Amino acid sequence: MSEVRDGEVRIDLTEAADAALRFIGVIHTPWSDRKECPRQGRIDGPECRVEIFDPWVPALAGLEAFASIELFYWLDRSRRDLVVQVPRHSGQPSGTFALRSPVRPNPIGLSRVKLERIEGNVLVVRGLDCLDGTPLVDIKPDRCDFSAKD
Ligand code: SAM
Repeated sequence: MSEVRDGEVRIDLTEAADAALRFIGVIHTPWSDRKECPRQGRIDGPECRVEIFDPWVPALAGLEAFASIELFYWLDRSRRDLVVQVPRHSGQPSGTFALRSPVRPNPIGLSRVKLERIEGNVLVVRGLDCLDGTPLVDIKPDRCDFSAKD
């Protein structure tokens, strides 16, 4: 678990109301150390392999039509008890919900990634920013039609 820095505020967590997430796969990336892991992914970043577990492989049908998809993942090595954080890059205190930090009550990460190809039960993508072995929670096509309109 990461340190609590000066200026950060942690709380004692009550027992979680269990949402019973199902991990549908695991993400393989080149990064096993946070120091090497990008803060946000880049579309020209390295290829990463997103392995989908049985029985979810048939749920990929049709996904190959999308060049861009959204991946939701569980930032499993995060602490979850900070309400105010001091990001290293800014040094300024900020509320957790004003940050995209991995430290949050429910550590869900979201990246829009480029889908390079599908090899059986593996999505090959670019644009990720998570550690090797990060559990996958969901996949959605990047379809502007489904987004809120101004
Ligand atoms: N792109 C996602 C988002 O905006 O929701 C995640 C952004 S978060 C700033 C990315 C950082 O989370 C990485 O640089 C790394 O420090 C950390 N991280 C990546 N994988 C993690 C994991 N499995 N558990 C805990 N922290 C992780």
